[in-house]
Amino acid sequence: MKRVTQAQSGATYRRLPITARLENVLEYAARQADVNVRVTSGGQQHVPGKIGKSIKGVRTGSIRHDIRPGHMGAADIVLIDRNSGSQLDMRKATDASRMGVFTEAAVAAGATGVGAGVGYMGAHTIHVGDGGSGTWGGASFINGAHSRGIARFRGGQEVKAAQNVGKSHEHVTVESVLVRPTIKRGSKGEHVLVLQAALGLKVDGNFGPETEKAVKELQKKNKLKADGIVGPITWRAVG
Ligand SMILES: [Zn+2]
Repeated sequence: MKRVTQAQSGATYRRLPITARLENVLEYAARQADVNVRVTSGGQQHVPGKIGKSIKGVRTGSIRHDIRPGHMGAADIVLIDRNSGSQLDMRKATDASRMGVFTEAAVAAGATGVGAGVGYMGAHTIHVGDGGSGTWGGASFINGAHSRGIARFRGGQEVKAAQNVGKSHEHVTVESVLVRPTIKRGSKGEHVLVLQAALGLKVDGNFGPETEKAVKELQKKNKLKADGIVGPITWRAVG
């Protein structure tokens, strides 16, 4: 039975599935701490040029939750006791120590950045992801768990073990890069927002003449057919 449930799809931000690599890390750590994991905040679109900036409906905050090639990304999660069904609470010593066991195992399996703290994201939530190695949030368990995890990480045995855990179940995750649809003049929505932000245009989600003009310029600059249609090759040029 899978222990990780992704419950972020209705969120305003960071509602995309997490990467398979991260899901495996969470699954592995969940087994070690004997808890279930609920993802409350998952992936978001990576928008070149908008790192650390919000785009309405698309992304917010730091780059850590971005879905990017070669990255594990990040998730904000709550841990759930498998008997009582209640969320672990870092203000209780026994729960905090289980949250530490979980966090240590996640770091041993390849997570590098972990955060938790009552004043940071509340008493239940832990951030687990990649990016720079470090901790934040100030929870009692977080620094010790991180350094013990780093010590275990050396050798990489648990990184492999975690990725094998995932072979036993179906992923509802993304592999590493978001699939972007082909868009052109008249298109609307999230992917248009991403394109406009990346091109430094006014971000309104409507693919109009200005957007088309900018796309054609980009295509010319990259020696592509300047048809104003953003398919897989043009998306690659966008970055
Ligand atoms: Zn986070």
